[in-house]
Amino acid sequence: MPEERRSGCRLCPRNCGVDRSRNFGACKAGDAPAVARAALHFWEEPCISGKRGSGAVFFTGCALHCVYCQNRIISDGVKGREISTERLAEIFFELEAEGAENINLVTGDHFIPHIAEALADARKKGFLKPFIFNCSGYETVESLRRLEGLIDVFLPDFKYYDPLLSKKYSAAYDYPEVAKKALDEMVRQKPLCVFDQEGMIKSGVIVRNLLLPGNVSNSKKVLKYLHDKYGDDIYISILSQYTPQEDAAGLYPELSRRVKKSEYDRLIDYAIKLGIENAFIQDMSSANESFIPDFDGKGVLRK
Ligand code: SF4
Repeated sequence: MPEERRSGCRLCPRNCGVDRSRNFGACKAGDAPAVARAALHFWEEPCISGKRGSGAVFFTGCALHCVYCQNRIISDGVKGREISTERLAEIFFELEAEGAENINLVTGDHFIPHIAEALADARKKGFLKPFIFNCSGYETVESLRRLEGLIDVFLPDFKYYDPLLSKKYSAAYDYPEVAKKALDEMVRQKPLCVFDQEGMIKSGVIVRNLLLPGNVSNSKKVLKYLHDKYGDDIYISILSQYTPQEDAAGLYPELSRRVKKSEYDRLIDYAIKLGIENAFIQDMSSANESFIPDFDGKGVLRK
């Protein structure tokens, strides 16, 4: 990242201004992309996992650090190996050879320049599967523009409508405003959802909202905003899979339980009342830690 090295990293809204070859910013990422696991993943929406699994590349580090993060072991930068962009492109081909339906770039926001380089390299070498950018929604428009023409499907979260909630749980008062602009940019790049004959998504935007315990009203506001703004141009994935994390329970006792079925049902009823048709909903059994993969470095280094 020569540009970021010269002027300091301002890739994401945290705007740290650090030289990542010498210091860490909020994302805890260094100068080279770090990956904790690259393997087939079967627990995404059906149009992403399909029958053969999504080729998920889990990046290390994260700028957001939500207090309830279920991937903390990698988002805190504890696990993962630094690799080159050439190796990243190679991983895409290895996952394709294992049968991956697509390449699912999970929380790579702080590595956008490296990812853009690897995607362009892979396409030049004839890679044809869709690239999915699976992200927090906390991205700058400028960063997202670096992915233009390279990403097929954006899979962002829209976590919070209320800035006080985003401040409380992610130390990011600006999350709602940032995410709204980021979603506009994603929809500008991928204005319509396109599926193949098997129902696999080839292009478009799917926005996820994870229902947090006791926070049905936040999720309702998110759904209303998304439906009013984008209608049927996007799909909305309404997640019930919130899994309590022990380390958050002390400071945030309200987060120490799973989402109740009655809460999720209320949210789904509301979505129906709004007229949302392009949606994915989950079984309550999805709140199970077995959906959290082992971040054991699988597939990261050359065999
Ligand atoms: S990508 Fe990391 S270092 Fe750069 S601005 Fe964001 S948090 Fe800071």
